[in-house]
Amino acid sequence: MAGIYEEVEIEDMTYDAETKMFTFPCPCGDKFQISLEELDDGEDIAHCPSCTLKIRVVYEPEALERYLNPPEEES
Ligand SMILES: [Zn+2]
Repeated sequence: MAGIYEEVEIEDMTYDAETKMFTFPCPCGDKFQISLEELDDGEDIAHCPSCTLKIRVVYEPEALERYLNPPEEES
């Protein structure tokens, strides 16, 4: 696919558990972003809202499972 700036491992992205969004710094100063829901739908392209760059998110289905069903914290 044309226009992919970089391939990024999901482990290298920042995950916000509240918004369920993965982000990664874009060279323009903004951030690429993709939601957990989009990834679960099979989408793997994260867009930057401020420029035309895109990244492909590389992940194993098992990795996604950890975010979809986070293990309960033992207290
Ligand atoms: Zn950008």
